[in-house]
Amino acid sequence: MPSLQIFNTLSRSKEPFVPHRPGKASLYVCGPTVYDLIHIGNARTFTTFDMVSRWLRVSGFDVTYVRNITDIDDKIIERAKEKGVAFGELAESMATAFREDCERLSLLPPDREPRATKYVDAMLGLIATLESKGLAYRADNGDVYYSVRDFAGYGKLSRRNLDDLRAGERVAVEAAKRDPLDFALWKAAKPGEPSWPSAYGAGRPGWHIECSAMSAGEVGTPVDLHGGAVDLQFPHHENEVAQSEGAGHVPFARCWMHGAFLNMDSEKMSKSLGNFHTLRDVLGQLDAVQGGESTRFFLLRGHYRSEINFSWDTLADAGNTLRGFYTALREVPPAPPKAIDWDAGYAKRFRDAMNDDFDTPIAFAVLHELRTEVNRTKSAELSALLKALGGTIGFLQADPETFLQGASTGALDVQARIDERNAAKKAKDFPKADAIRKELEAAGIVLEDKPGGITEWRRK
Ligand code: AMP
Ligand code: ZN
Repeated sequence: MPSLQIFNTLSRSKEPFVPHRPGKASLYVCGPTVYDLIHIGNARTFTTFDMVSRWLRVSGFDVTYVRNITDIDDKIIERAKEKGVAFGELAESMATAFREDCERLSLLPPDREPRATKYVDAMLGLIATLESKGLAYRADNGDVYYSVRDFAGYGKLSRRNLDDLRAGERVAVEAAKRDPLDFALWKAAKPGEPSWPSAYGAGRPGWHIECSAMSAGEVGTPVDLHGGAVDLQFPHHENEVAQSEGAGHVPFARCWMHGAFLNMDSEKMSKSLGNFHTLRDVLGQLDAVQGGESTRFFLLRGHYRSEINFSWDTLADAGNTLRGFYTALREVPPAPPKAIDWDAGYAKRFRDAMNDDFDTPIAFAVLHELRTEVNRTKSAELSALLKALGGTIGFLQADPETFLQGASTGALDVQARIDERNAAKKAKDFPKADAIRKELEAAGIVLEDKPGGITEWRRK
């Protein structure tokens, strides 16, 4: 296959994807901080990297996909206190909720899902290395900080300059730090907070050190691809580079991928701004059978580096389009699956789009054309190709009939009404048959009469 090109934040350009070990691809994605349910903005980022991991596999790489769980953090401790539960209990229940949410979006489980609390020893080892290299210091308050000014490459990922950062950004000045940009590697224990013993005294790790330790521990360095949303470029990922490369793992990551935000009214959706919908809220408003895949489609049909805006209308529109694909698959049942011929026609164009920095808008445009062709030609082979191409990135694998019928028909017994209507038709009572059709239509059920007296139905 011609090579996959990925936009690398480090070089700000598209580069051929060349893994460190031929044929193997490691992908590390910063996972959720489990203090609350994820919102649909978070879901966008995780869905993007699910698509990336699937496409890497389709491209023939032996993929190791790591997505960590941040299960110790200020936010978890605060929220657990508010709720009067142990921090571990809150983290556990939110990690379970996250897993359920991922399933609703057909996100495949990552190959490894390390938790920060299981990595404290490795983090302490890394901090000790940094200290021995003069990159970490113990402050008077018992914290251990990274000394940013002692790492020559600081700012290379986010392209920020230390002096500009100090002058331009309001960096909280803590008396214990030598430089306002220094960040905590280890935080001294405070009363009532969880802590671990260490050479620096009891305490807990800072956030950034987690990912340096877990990434090296799970897949070694360099990791081929490291991802997250664009807000993680600075300071989180910049600090990961400083820690890992400072400790001698050079380069830490070969390619950095950053996804754009999902916005609400042109502003980043975020919990701190209060302008968010949890994924569960969103799915709760949608049909239980169709909602997950419709939302996945809504999240992936824009390019991952373009911002998208959340609205119920665009979400509904995504659902309509998806139903159009499934209708084609129902009308023209796919031939038995066979290997995709990537060198020709629709498949080649789909692959070229995906290989061009995961250009899903173009890839879906190809699927639209293919769908029109399926409807026109009634070709079972093309229908099978539509299903197979959709399947490469997690779409169109449900049974079309089941999908199109959906879940929520309320108290209405649709099949019983259809049987009554067919009986009326047989008795030539057309006004009654018509009335039943209209009644169902008012309830959002569309009937389609097929040859042989069969009536199929789907939700509008
Ligand atoms: P958090 O649990 O806050 O660490 O966020 C988990 C992931 O979601 C991180 O990769 C964030 O960068 C990402 N994220 C947060 N808000 C948004 C948003 N509005 N759009 C896309 N990704 C987001
Ligand atoms: Zn991270």
